[in-house]
Amino acid sequence: MRVYLVNPSHVSFGVAVITPRWLYVLAAATPTGWGDPILCDETLEPFDPEQLAPGDVVGIGIHTGNALRGYEVGHEVRARGAYVVYGGIHATLYPDEAHTMGEAHSVVKGDGDVIWSTVIADCAAGTPRDVYEGGRVSGGAFRPARWDLLPKNRYMWASVQTVRGCPKHCSFCSVWRTDGQTPRQHASDAVIAEIVQLRRLGFRFIALADDNFYPVSAADLAQAARRNDAARLHELEELRDERFALMARLARLPEDMVFYTQITMEAAEDLTFLDAMRKAHIRGALVGVESVTPEGLKDVYKGFNLAGDALVERLQTFGKYGIHVLGSFIFGLPSDRPETFKATADLAERAGVTFAQFVMLTPFPGTIDFERWERDEARVGVNIGGVPITRHWLIPQAKRPKVYVPHPVMSSDEIRDRTQAVWDQFYALPRIWERSRAVESWRGRLAFVLISKLYRQMYANTGIATDSARTARSVRIARVIARPCRRLFAAAPMPHLDVPTA
Ligand code: SF4
Repeated sequence: MRVYLVNPSHVSFGVAVITPRWLYVLAAATPTGWGDPILCDETLEPFDPEQLAPGDVVGIGIHTGNALRGYEVGHEVRARGAYVVYGGIHATLYPDEAHTMGEAHSVVKGDGDVIWSTVIADCAAGTPRDVYEGGRVSGGAFRPARWDLLPKNRYMWASVQTVRGCPKHCSFCSVWRTDGQTPRQHASDAVIAEIVQLRRLGFRFIALADDNFYPVSAADLAQAARRNDAARLHELEELRDERFALMARLARLPEDMVFYTQITMEAAEDLTFLDAMRKAHIRGALVGVESVTPEGLKDVYKGFNLAGDALVERLQTFGKYGIHVLGSFIFGLPSDRPETFKATADLAERAGVTFAQFVMLTPFPGTIDFERWERDEARVGVNIGGVPITRHWLIPQAKRPKVYVPHPVMSSDEIRDRTQAVWDQFYALPRIWERSRAVESWRGRLAFVLISKLYRQMYANTGIATDSARTARSVRIARVIARPCRRLFAAAPMPHLDVPTA
């Protein structure tokens, strides 16, 4: 019996930007008695079911975007007599669907780190259960990834996780519901050991794939103090101290290392934290700006963000500490109007964000926005080829519409056209070249331009483009750009690098 793990994708680029961490974590959670699992990331190349034998176990991790492809893989696997096991956010939200649409033997809900070995043992005994509750494992039980199984020269960035969960509750996001609102931190020893292993292999760019790298804000601390809640205050202070301890150790890694993370803009209220990030080689952060107006922030339950000039100043503060911001903006919020698009594009430039993404408000399963939209749409009852629009991820890719939250005054087409125009403006070559001044060397500037264009093309494929010719062109361009990009990120391996002590 062999164990396989598949990351489904309906498009393969040959190389990919970031390692799909879950594959390597579940590989580590696979008991050694079954041998090394065979990993397939379909963003590199499609899974070959011919290699399967009856009784093998195939774990398929799905999110909403790749669920249908995951179900296709499940059919192929089942036809060869192997066990089909789904996990991931989508399977956690829709375990029944994975059974009916994907021919699952089993579905794992929640984290797979601990339960995976039981699933394999049950399959080996011929008694897989319908559903396994993986739950939310504690930070101490997170599995370090098996980076020794990484294929060579395929990824630009590696990914390490330092914390799961986010205390916020944004209406468009499912993280706080699936990963929970209590941050669970990975022990710094385990994080550093993984990073050193990756640097030894030649990765100097590493994404800290955290839900929110700044899990304790000044407001959280002040609230606990105001309530005279000594236990809570102590807990928050401990969490915060652990962040600093981790960053102090990251700071002792080789100077050429570059980390990138996701963070709320509150982090820029705390200059000590930003300084520790700078010293820790954290050179970039995705910051969820979402909206540039107070009304827009209220729409998405993100009142802790700033708007207007205060927002510009806050985003610029990251830059002052050498942290490049990838600003994430949402269009189509109920309070947005046609003038919002230009105001957002202008603000992104004024704030000096290095990269930006402009997404349309989309009802993702597991979110508050989805529940609202699902209720309204169910009353209308639209379906495509017999599939209700509220289950749009089950519509074949070629016919699948982009689904957006209806807007009170603008049509989806208008929002899409205006969003596209903002992307085109932000990623126009002269503007990218101007922003590339942030990087000193010519090689660095070239990398900056290529990455900006790659990001634009990859997004056009999986993001807002609806025109199939435009999508196909984007995939072709992304394939061409991706290979030289990967080489720009690679570094000479450091096989003798030591683990810095605590
Ligand atoms: S969008 Fe970010 S801040 Fe909001 S809940 Fe999700 S992870 Fe947390």
